Amino acid sequence: MSTPFDRLGPDLVTTDPEVVASFARDEAALGVAGGAGPLAVLSPRSTADVAAALAIAHEHRVPVVVRGAGSGLSGAAAAPDGSVVLSTRRLARVLEVDPVERLAVVQPGVVTGDLRAAAAEVGLFYPPDPGSVAFSTVGGNVATNAGGMCCVKYGVTGDFVLALEVVLADGTVTRTGRRTAKGVAGYDLTSLLVGSEGTLGVITEITVRLLPAPGPASTLVATFPSLGAAAAAVAAVTRAGLDLSMLEVMDRTTLDAVDRLTGMGLGADGTPAAMLLAQSDTADAARALEAMAALCRDAGAEDVVLADDAVEGEALLEARRQALPALERLGDWILDDVCVPRGRVVELLEGIERVAAAQALTIGVFGHAGDGNMHPTIVHDASDPASVAAAGRAFEAITALALDLGGTITGEHGVGRLKRDWLARELDPGAMAMSRAVKAALDPRGILNPGCVLEP
Ligand SMILES: Cc1cc2nc3c(=O)[nH]c(=O)nc-3n(C[C@H](O)[C@H](O)[C@H](O)COP(=O)(O)OP(=O)(O)OC[C@H]3O[C@@H](n4cnc5c(N)ncnc54)[C@H](O)[C@@H]3O)c2cc1C
Repeated sequence: MSTPFDRLGPDLVTTDPEVVASFARDEAALGVAGGAGPLAVLSPRSTADVAAALAIAHEHRVPVVVRGAGSGLSGAAAAPDGSVVLSTRRLARVLEVDPVERLAVVQPGVVTGDLRAAAAEVGLFYPPDPGSVAFSTVGGNVATNAGGMCCVKYGVTGDFVLALEVVLADGTVTRTGRRTAKGVAGYDLTSLLVGSEGTLGVITEITVRLLPAPGPASTLVATFPSLGAAAAAVAAVTRAGLDLSMLEVMDRTTLDAVDRLTGMGLGADGTPAAMLLAQSDTADAARALEAMAALCRDAGAEDVVLADDAVEGEALLEARRQALPALERLGDWILDDVCVPRGRVVELLEGIERVAAAQALTIGVFGHAGDGNMHPTIVHDASDPASVAAAGRAFEAITALALDLGGTITGEHGVGRLKRDWLARELDPGAMAMSRAVKAALDPRGILNPGCVLEP
């Protein structure tokens, strides 16, 4: 099949149906893709290739879906029928690590873990660490403003982005931001592009801020007889202002699933209702974690263990990273991603338990407790219409509850296609109009990831 992109050359364009089909959707499991699928996959080797591809797409009004690793959980990289997928897999070089300016410059297809490793080689630290750190790309992280386990102390991906090179919808190549420690010239276009989910431009180069590497982290694990008790401990820990670099929670369903997947024996003495996993990477880590241990016991913790050993700490972290892959094995799943004010996590968790009971479904809960960002994972049977309907109702109820509690419909996974219809329930009409105006100004023909974030 010929396409207008053939003039880019066979090295850059694939129309092999099997290959194209494998690029058609991301990790979101809620029927967001389908139909005939995309026309082709483009694999540019340079910014000039991206510019040439977008100029053709603009001329022929062909929708373009940029794709990093396709690990997104909101359907943002699900490619609609008749679109082309622009893969960043060949734009995967770390271009520079500058220890004086404490920054790194990378192409968008660099895997996040590789950037962290390159920074570590010169004693520096790139904090963002989504659970997908071993396979998601820096470009995807920037385009979704990904979070992760470090956010409680270090913030999200966007907090580290200094500058971008971006190709606009018509193929124009431009740069935003700066390399300097400070700089306030003009509108903050870099922040506008962060989290734009491939709808405003294709990011072809990223300059990130680095930090001095922290010392080895110490780890605390606490188990609780109820999710409510764990949430109460989180509130007490947050109130105390302890210097933690991680504060994560997993419920019994998640712990059991992780045990089955990894054989780690987290629930060896009977799986607890909830587990908190915390780390501190300050020089005074032992004091911070001892203070946390006391607060956990006050909140009713059954067991509190401090682990100074870095290997043990890393193993526990890996167990947490396996939460989603482990829950995926329980059946069909819909993953939610809601964030509420930290003080209202208890109400969110209690509400999720009520929803699970009302819909007679298993909902595994894990998440970034220190940020109030939870990932209720609704397990159901996709072959049973009644179960699918119940899962849909559960998803609706949990997302609505997060809004009612003063939270947001998405803490870190993005709006994508999954929550597009929810956006106007969170943003007021003025903010929705501003969003549409920005989209129309930067992508007047609506070719960049149409149907993602906003209606096409
Ligand atoms: C096991 C697992 C754990 C996860 N843990 C976390 C977590 O802790 N925190 C978190 O935030 N997310 C997490 N995620 C979700 C996902 O990994 C992130 O959203 C990640 O940032 C997506 O990166 P990607 O390279 O896979 O991007 P993709 O899924 O390929 O794309 C995501 C979006 O970014 C756009 N995009 C990609 N590259 C570019 C570019 N160069 N220019 C413009 N737009 C672009 C795409 O069009 C799409 O809209 C997890 C996913 C899995 C499977």
